[in-house]
Amino acid sequence: MHDTKRWNPANIKKHEATDESDSYKNALSYKDMSICKKCHNIYHNKRWVHDEALYNSMLKNKEEINYVICPACLKIETKFYNGVVELSGSFLFEHKDDILNLIKNTVERADYIDPLEKIENIEEDDEKKIITIYTTSEDLAQRIGKNIEKAYNGDIEYSFSERELLLRVYWKRDL
Ligand SMILES: [Zn+2]
Repeated sequence: MHDTKRWNPANIKKHEATDESDSYKNALSYKDMSICKKCHNIYHNKRWVHDEALYNSMLKNKEEINYVICPACLKIETKFYNGVVELSGSFLFEHKDDILNLIKNTVERADYIDPLEKIENIEEDDEKKIITIYTTSEDLAQRIGKNIEKAYNGDIEYSFSERELLLRVYWKRDL
């Protein structure tokens, strides 16, 4: 691709909730204490938080709750993604459960840091022996790749498209 360059993970820029480059975070303005009806993220003090205790107390105490769809769930709904991780190689399907667990743990950790970082979809191609993970953020795709490489070695490659704000991560390991 024309504007895709070899990408150094050390140069990743951190996206703030107000980052102008992410139109999904800017296209809609949210009222304070809006709740995402899909994932229960709460918009509070100009950022999204995931806080079950706050959510439950809002259900109890607020007469009228402003339900919205958060930017992450909007991406999932519209199948717009900022990260793709493609896993391949003969090692993969022999350790599939462990690797999928590792991915899940990576997301749970990411949920704690930024509730807008979600996995949108995991596609398993049993014939080609490829697993593809789509994420709402390039940071999350990067972390998934890093964690898999850390745990299982293998070969990893990153390619980032500035124009599309899309990070593609390729990981491969043969036995
Ligand atoms: Zn949501």
